[in-house]
Amino acid sequence: MARVHNFSAGPAALPLEVLEEAQAEFLDYAGTGMSVLEMSHRSAVYQAIIDDAEATLRRILRVPDTYRILFFQGGATLQFAGVPLNLMRTGRAGYVVSGNFAKKAWQEAQRYGDAHLLATSAETNFDRIPDLSSIAAAARDLDYVHICQNNTIFGTTVWDLPETGDTPLVADVSSCFLSFPLDIERYGLVYAGAQKNAGPAGVTVVIVRDDLIGEAPARADICPTYLSYRAQANAGSMYNTPNSFGIYLSGKVFHWVERTGGLAEMERRNREKAELLYGFLDGSKLFHGTADRASRSISNVTFRTDSPELDAAVIAGAAEHGIVGIKGHRLVGGMRASVYNAVSLESVRVLVDYLGRFEREHQESM
Ligand SMILES: *Cc1c(COP(=O)(O)O)cnc(C)c1O
Repeated sequence: MARVHNFSAGPAALPLEVLEEAQAEFLDYAGTGMSVLEMSHRSAVYQAIIDDAEATLRRILRVPDTYRILFFQGGATLQFAGVPLNLMRTGRAGYVVSGNFAKKAWQEAQRYGDAHLLATSAETNFDRIPDLSSIAAAARDLDYVHICQNNTIFGTTVWDLPETGDTPLVADVSSCFLSFPLDIERYGLVYAGAQKNAGPAGVTVVIVRDDLIGEAPARADICPTYLSYRAQANAGSMYNTPNSFGIYLSGKVFHWVERTGGLAEMERRNREKAELLYGFLDGSKLFHGTADRASRSISNVTFRTDSPELDAAVIAGAAEHGIVGIKGHRLVGGMRASVYNAVSLESVRVLVDYLGRFEREHQESM
């Protein structure tokens, strides 16, 4: 079996142990004589699976009892609507636009209310997190402040959460979810598509402070029942048929994180991998990182040469070494290595060795 060095930004590498466990259980889950794929979501066996996934996630992220954990379909993108529909009680919210997904969230919110632009780094093509120091004052009259904590395409992270006073902070944490510990009490709500770091595509986790979701969504007049956080909380994330297999597999990833040492260990490993790569880039004459140093992500490392033709040669040559998924997003160009939890230090070494060889061979040919 040949497994590649997979740096895909999402859907992304999953822990091999998780895939093997799922494979072993695939045809007959726990003596039921059927696959999880074939099982009623209303069965006691499935209820135990979803309860265990939620409880494991609650342990590893230390989610307080005052927060609900919900599983949705529809990706993080559906939550761009879910957040305003549920939380825009006075109709005014604030958005930090630090990348493409942040911008999409902001644009979607404008469909439902007054979505203020609080800060943006658009003028430098999102190579950094904008200055967030003045947000506290602006946040006072808002229903919430929305940030995208890790900008998957641009390789930047909000390392210092903005002060928002009593106004809830809402964060799209899709691409840094389970990459490092989060202090959940600093947020009113976080949401994450699982396919970056926590499971397969088709599962989105929403963690929301119970008092924020009220009796009904803010926009009960138009909010689909499916998207009502209160309705889903009351139904244990099974208002309708959930992504049953995706939640099962995500639960296995949560267990893998726990037995591998939890989120502190994930952070240690992710920093080690990212620093190896950034260290190489900082010492290189050919390659350079595209994100401002203070904003650098430990999930997505973006870099390039000064020539699109050379970038294309780097990407094509990588495939010959079993290195895949390093083509940068078209909005940035160049390369991007996503070094999520399931990507090994060994894979990053292979990538750095390859880039170093490419650079030497390039210099010799000059
Ligand atoms: C991938 C991603 C999204 C979009 O996720 P979908 O599951 O495709 O809706 C949104 N935000 C961030 C930060 C992402 O990384």
